Order: sequence, then structure tokens, then C-alpha cells
Amino acid sequence: MRKLIALTACCLAIGSASANDSPSKIAGVQPSSPAREDAMGIGDAKAKPGKPARKLSEREQEEQAEAELSARIAERLAQMKANQAARAAAAAKARKAAQAHAAKAAYVASQPPPPANGTFWTYEGEFGPANWSKINAAWNKCNGGSRQSPIDIRDGIKVELEQIAFDYRPSGFSVTDNGHTVQVALGTGNFLSVGGRTYELQQLHFHRPAEERVNGKTYEMGIHLVHKDLEGRTAVLALMLQRGRAQPAIQTVWNNLPLEKKETFTPSIVFNPNDLLPERRDYYTYMGSLTEPPCSEGVLWLVMKEPVQASPEQMALFSRLYPLNARPVQAAAGRMIKESQ
Ligand SMILES: [Zn+2]
Repeated sequence: MRKLIALTACCLAIGSASANDSPSKIAGVQPSSPAREDAMGIGDAKAKPGKPARKLSEREQEEQAEAELSARIAERLAQMKANQAARAAAAAKARKAAQAHAAKAAYVASQPPPPANGTFWTYEGEFGPANWSKINAAWNKCNGGSRQSPIDIRDGIKVELEQIAFDYRPSGFSVTDNGHTVQVALGTGNFLSVGGRTYELQQLHFHRPAEERVNGKTYEMGIHLVHKDLEGRTAVLALMLQRGRAQPAIQTVWNNLPLEKKETFTPSIVFNPNDLLPERRDYYTYMGSLTEPPCSEGVLWLVMKEPVQASPEQMALFSRLYPLNARPVQAAAGRMIKESQ
């Protein structure tokens, strides 16, 4: 009976053992071997069920209970081992997952940020000229270029500049308020030739104030006529506008403004870009850039010396749409400027 009490206590101890307990802690508890059972006659009683069961002595009953308890302990030990193995496997799996997660996070952190690809820009504030290159990676020249426009035109070299050959004609046109300016798209067939190249007029648009300065002087408004040659080179003819008599070609544009921004109005009349040009065709010329994003360089600038007149009413109308749509002047950075004598 003492042995049975000891075994029961041991079993209880196993039952309350922690997850880290090793089965070796309960070494010494061994289930009875069949040989021992045989020696005590228990094996005989089980082996011969046909014979009338002999009443077991108290000693035998104790031995039988001990054997059953040993079996239960062995079963419990096996279960504990299995549980321990399962917990260890789960912990290893969690460690591996955590390592993979950390490795992934480290890789993501080591990658450069995705390139900016915004398209919204303005002439003032957060999206203004000082930040254009941050808005879109392709606009890096806007703040990092060395041959940007507009500039304050001064210290030009006076030379016998060739005349610009204009081949403009009355053309179909459409007017768009594109959110940055009023732009006039022209039908094909308007050209200017200079420096051995011929450029076709694509569009013209307005700025307030004029973007170029001449010896520090600003003009109330300006017009840019944007041309391209067959190789994709750009030449921009810049006109200064000053207060004076009404300009009929400008009035034609104002008369055909679309009612909504971003919409295009296509009237059934023609527009003659010749009507915008000043009488004198002397000019300044230098290499610069587009004055709005993407600020691409390699642009040939042709700035007419004689300003063009427009009435105060015509200027006032544009100022209601665009009070300020001019990029600040950029560093000339020692660029050569040539001018007609
Ligand atoms: Zn422009």
C-alpha cells in the first residue's frame, strides 16, 4: 500500500509539471514487467480466462493497481514528450517567420524612395517654381539646370544678326485655358527660319508679367510663340506687351475664350500670327529652357526688341484670369547673349 501512495503522489507531480520538465525527473517509476506479473500469478489469471477467477489477495490487488498506474504514467509521459516536441516545432517556426519579416523590412528600408511623379504645379506656394523639381523626378532641370529661362537679358554682344524669316499665314486655331495660361493652338503651315533651321509654329500663349526682362525692365505682359523643327528642337519667339492701342489678334483670342478651364474652343474663323509681330524685327538670342515644367534645356530663344502694344482693357481681361503666371528670372550664368545692332 505504501508503494501505491508513493506512485499516486508521483503521478500528481507529473500532472502538475511545467512544460519544460524533462521526463527524466520521474525516473525510477517503471511499469511492471510481464515476467514479474507472471511470478506473482497475475499473468496466469489473465492468460486463462476459462478458469474460475481466483479471488485476488490484497497483495495481488495492490500489484495490479500498481501495474495499471504505471501504464497510465507511461502514457502520460509519451503525451508530454509529444507536446514538448510540438511546442518546440511551433517556436522554431515562429522564429523563422520573425527572421524573414525582419529581413524583408530591412530590404524595404534599404531601397531608395520611389521617384516622384506628380503633375500638378503652380506659380506660387508649395507647388511653385522653387519646388518644381521635387514634384516630378523628370523635372529635375527646373531647380538643377544651368541653362534655364527666363533670364534678365543684359550685356548682349551686338552683332549683325541674320533676319528671322517668317512664313506665317492665316490659320485655323483653337483656344484653351489650360490652368496655367491661355493657349492658342494653330493649324499647320506656319514657319520661321533662323540659323539654317526651319521651325514650325505649334502654339502661342500669354504670361503676366512678361517672363523675360531686358536690362532689368519688366513688361506688363508677354507672348511666347513655340516652334519645333523636324528633329524636335524647340525655338521660342518672345514678344513683350506694353500698354497702348488695342491689338486685333489678341482681341480675336479673347473673343474666343472657352467658358471652362481645360476646355478647348475652336471657332470657324482664322487667326494670322503675322498680326502679332512688331514692325522692327531686331532681336536678342540665347540658349535656354522651357519656362515651365519639365524645364527642358536646349531651347533657342528669340526675344523681339520692339514691344507690341495692347490696350489696358485687353491686359485687364487677362489679369482677371491670370494675375501672375510668370516664372522668376533664372541665373544667366555667363551664357552668351547676342543681339541685333
Ligand atoms: Zn511661355
